[in-house]
Amino acid sequence: MENLMDKIISLAKRRGFIFPGSEIYGGMANSWDYGPLGVELKNNIKNEWWKMFVHQRADVVGVDTALVMNPKVWEASGHLKEFSDPLIECKKCHSRFRADEMKGDKCQECGGKEFTTPKQFNLMFKTFIGPAEDAANTAYFRPETAQGQFVDFKNILETSRKKLPFGIAQMGKAFRNEITPGNYIFRTREFEQMEIEYFIPEPKKDKDWEKYFEMWLDEMKRWLKHLGISDKHLHYHDIPDGERAHYSKRTVDVEYDYPFGQKELYGLAYRTAFDLKNHADKSGQDLRYTDTETNEKYLPHVIEPTWGVDRSMLVAILEAYHEEKAPTSEKGEEDVRVVLKFPKWMAPVKVAILPLSKKEELSNFAKDIYGDLIKDFICEYDETQSIGKRYRRQDEIGTPYCVTVDFESLEDKAVTVRDRDTMKQDRIKISELKNYLSDKLK
Ligand code: ATP
Repeated sequence: MENLMDKIISLAKRRGFIFPGSEIYGGMANSWDYGPLGVELKNNIKNEWWKMFVHQRADVVGVDTALVMNPKVWEASGHLKEFSDPLIECKKCHSRFRADEMKGDKCQECGGKEFTTPKQFNLMFKTFIGPAEDAANTAYFRPETAQGQFVDFKNILETSRKKLPFGIAQMGKAFRNEITPGNYIFRTREFEQMEIEYFIPEPKKDKDWEKYFEMWLDEMKRWLKHLGISDKHLHYHDIPDGERAHYSKRTVDVEYDYPFGQKELYGLAYRTAFDLKNHADKSGQDLRYTDTETNEKYLPHVIEPTWGVDRSMLVAILEAYHEEKAPTSEKGEEDVRVVLKFPKWMAPVKVAILPLSKKEELSNFAKDIYGDLIKDFICEYDETQSIGKRYRRQDEIGTPYCVTVDFESLEDKAVTVRDRDTMKQDRIKISELKNYLSDKLK
């Protein structure tokens, strides 16, 4: 039996969601490209996130900062010193592994049993600015979006005139020279993050930050529900002392039951004033916040919820994937219906327009309907192959509604709308079609 990951990887390739990167050159290990449907799905997820956490919250503003920043940023943040994983090397085949992720005591490549002692491997992606490749021109691709929010904190505070508590959101690419990338788009060296740095008053008492931490944990749960992720696949893991990132006083990892095991999906961390303090020290700038009521000046503390875009895509597809017994075909064969039951807001295509025949009078009529619907919805027009095969394709890409145009449509000015999940068909007047679809897609 083909396992679920293989099925998803194959469907995503076949239908244009996700392709292996640089495939015509034999690919590049663990790099993936998002195809026409993949990029729609990804944009829907990113836009929905932005809407939920930036547009629909008065206390969060957005930013979009550079991928390559002044290297001093990474000295201050501690990434140059601390952002590393323990690396070991098999003495026989020289394959390298993350020491903390070793399964058993044998090399997964050659079965060798002897390894070098673990050494810390920095995950920062190095590059050079300008023509000279020397230390003075060394720079790094950002390993997280978060530092942009800290570095721009003062500019944003002054221009947005926000009062604490408030957040700065950013989404975009991050780069990590992972020792063991893999599991499809779960761990890659180039990926996207959506992060909020939520600045809170300096805690007067030990636990003053906790209510904000709980608020963001609830917000993350709200998002997961919206994404269609079932509670039974989710776990909230409080990371114990000694295992947290160098900057964090409390971290909760949101973990998901992937087909390859229970692993991190998102994270929530209390970063204290660690970042602002280090940037203030290193840059010599005053990054303190002035309380307008008390005139007190202090460095705000930070709660950071962080979401991986690619992992969001992966879990959205895993949750949406269903195999159902299809109605027995005309030839009497039993069939399996593969359907991606995305929440409707997430589906890359909302409506497919399918004329039953390619005859000009019908296809012109159907194209007019398509031309009108496309002003309001992402639509696909498809007149090739049998109607059964076309339904199958739309089910596989998760299109919530198929509009079938038949010869009767020319007479009664009505079409048949098929619902992806129930497969129920409604005959709808063309004059009412837009309203009908708008209501259903709300
Ligand atoms: P992991 O323990 O899986 O290495 P992490 O704890 O290092 O992850 P964070 O630094 O908390 O991850 O990054 C925030 C989010 O970015 C993660 O929750 C995840 O969704 C995403 N992410 C991190 N590394 C990768 C990667 N290599 N590929 C894809 N997404 C990633």
